[in-house]
Amino acid sequence: MIGLSQFEMWFVTGSQHLYGDETLQQVAVNAEKIVSFLDQDSHIPVNVVFKPVVTGSQGISSLCLDANNSPNCIGLICWMHTFSPAKMWIGGLSSLIKPFLHLHTQFNRQIPFDRIDMDFMNLNQSAHGDREFGFIGTRLQLDRKVVVGHWEEASVKAEIGAWSRAASALLDSKKCRIARFGDNMRDVAVTEGNKVSAQVRFGYEVHGFGVGDLVASVGEVEETAIDRLVTVYMDTYEVGKDLRETKSFAKLREAARIELGLRRFLEINDCAAFTTTFEDLHGLNQLPGLACQRLMADGYGFGAEGDWKTAALVRAMKVMGAGLTGGTSFMEDYTYHMPENGPALVLGAHMLEVCPTISKSKPVLEIHPLSIGGKADPARLVFSVRSGPALNATLLDMGNRFRLLINEVKVVDIDEHMPNLPVASVFWEPQPDLKISATSWIYAGGAHHTSFSQAVTTEQLKDFAEMTGIECLVIDQDTNIAAFRSQLRHNQLSYGLAISN
Ligand code: MN
Repeated sequence: MIGLSQFEMWFVTGSQHLYGDETLQQVAVNAEKIVSFLDQDSHIPVNVVFKPVVTGSQGISSLCLDANNSPNCIGLICWMHTFSPAKMWIGGLSSLIKPFLHLHTQFNRQIPFDRIDMDFMNLNQSAHGDREFGFIGTRLQLDRKVVVGHWEEASVKAEIGAWSRAASALLDSKKCRIARFGDNMRDVAVTEGNKVSAQVRFGYEVHGFGVGDLVASVGEVEETAIDRLVTVYMDTYEVGKDLRETKSFAKLREAARIELGLRRFLEINDCAAFTTTFEDLHGLNQLPGLACQRLMADGYGFGAEGDWKTAALVRAMKVMGAGLTGGTSFMEDYTYHMPENGPALVLGAHMLEVCPTISKSKPVLEIHPLSIGGKADPARLVFSVRSGPALNATLLDMGNRFRLLINEVKVVDIDEHMPNLPVASVFWEPQPDLKISATSWIYAGGAHHTSFSQAVTTEQLKDFAEMTGIECLVIDQDTNIAAFRSQLRHNQLSYGLAISN
């Protein structure tokens, strides 16, 4: 399970020596008050850490270098309580490799009309101090999030919280290792990509392993460990009576063996995400289904058919959504329901690998044949998904940049039963409707594989895109095809001009 309380966001207050010690002491006292308020707020899942007020270029540079070197620092929140001439920030900000958020706030909510004087004006001048700081961020072309409002406002805390989740995902991504068993399935294009570019952008490493190494790990699993895991299955899920039959039970034990071998392999190789492909399963008795589902539920990123970009995205979104209500899963737009009356729906599912964190009830453990692949019948969890807002996100390699494409959707309950559908599935109404959503998605080159989430928000993903310097496109209630296509053309031009990797 992923915890965000290990991470720190450093709160940096800028000033200068002009105002004297007394003012600087007051600046520090006020900043500490804001820090302790934000640190205790439930919107913000990471620790907010007060840093001594900075007043000169050397202090700023050394603080930025400390942030770079701190293994748990996800980034900085910068705020100018007073005026802080921004030339002193050039060195530090230029060397900062962690993301930063510019909080444009003010300690006092209201002007004390009866006692306001020039001392008050000098102490509380973020209204222009933060503009000076904003200029240097833009002048240096630095990606950052600007949050405006009084620090006690709910929207300010929520925006900081969203950013802190994205920054946590980025820090995690920088040390993430992804295991690939086999290459991309067949000749699929959209699941391909440049792994060097991905490592430059996101930090994660993609490691290829022969499936034989996994088979060896699966072969080392002890029978007693399988006994214990099968008991966990029986206690955790609804188990049909057919599964208790000798033949099926042997297949369930095989699924447990694969899970234990895969889990151990990922632990030994320090991998937080992985891919499989049913084209390359030599020596594995079943396509890993239940194993992928349960590993995803524990926070691992997963992509089927060699899709390492989606595996990495699922992992990042698992980190972003940690502790929030709702889950995150690998997903695929599978088939449509287009009634003459009523909104068109998408049936999302996959061969097997849908994460039970999005299940609306206790998943049912079943074993069924796989109609393609020619392997033994694999075990899988079957369930449907709770209704409500959700989103699908996909990451595309456009050749000169990565594009993060998001579609907000509404998960709906349906009355019909699907007794012959042997996989977990979800119905959603894409926003604003299927026509505009799919038209825009296809023009944007969006994949059939996505990371689906009922926990992660568009804001968090946009923050993540901003701090990794990638393109981000959103299809939501307000999308109109003409404007969306125009945005695609403008982005094509602007990224064509930008330096890429
Ligand atoms: Mn697929």
